[in-house]
Amino acid sequence: MLPAQAQLARETRGFMPENEGMALYNAASTISLTTTEKRQPIILEIGAWCGKSTVYLGTGAKQCGALLISLDHHRGSEEQQPGWEHFDDTVIDADTGRIDTLPFWRRTVESADIEDCVIGIVGNSTTVAQIWNTPIDMCFIDGGHSETAAWGDFNAWSPFVRIGGLLAIHDVFPDPRDGGRPPFEIYQAALDSGNWVDHLCEGSLRILKRISAVLD
Ligand code: MG
Repeated sequence: MLPAQAQLARETRGFMPENEGMALYNAASTISLTTTEKRQPIILEIGAWCGKSTVYLGTGAKQCGALLISLDHHRGSEEQQPGWEHFDDTVIDADTGRIDTLPFWRRTVESADIEDCVIGIVGNSTTVAQIWNTPIDMCFIDGGHSETAAWGDFNAWSPFVRIGGLLAIHDVFPDPRDGGRPPFEIYQAALDSGNWVDHLCEGSLRILKRISAVLD
């Protein structure tokens, strides 16, 4: 990662501490396929906000020749709405009065010089999953943190991660006093399924590796 990209990631608004972002970058930049597979590696990011984690994942993708699919409705999740803990009035569209982080995300991707390996999808995660049909080499779940959103993302997308592929989950807090439960619960469910093993732990980031593909 170039110093200018690291600086950009630091300056981009969002909720990704640098040590966790660098762990994402390192994981993304070492994704590789077996030599018999011809396709480009695919990294999927669920929940992009203004593109902070997109810089870490996208620069990693660029380094290893992967494509990053960055998926977000860009309307903010529950905890980012007016009156909630992570509300930010600077991402409100003045014309509509609604949250719209897409222009911020797009500018971030352009500034990071990763437009050639990042594809943005604007939409609801579980809806997009219904038309998805491609194995994923690394999936990063950092969308809404409500029970419905977190489980929806996990159930919809984790089955696409190939054996040997990675599943990263953000905001995993074993102690409920540190944060909400759903990200921890899906992490625990993944481990309990026997399909995944711990690969890396950095702050509230957990990265699992798929070891089998019995029904999740
Ligand atoms: Mg997060």
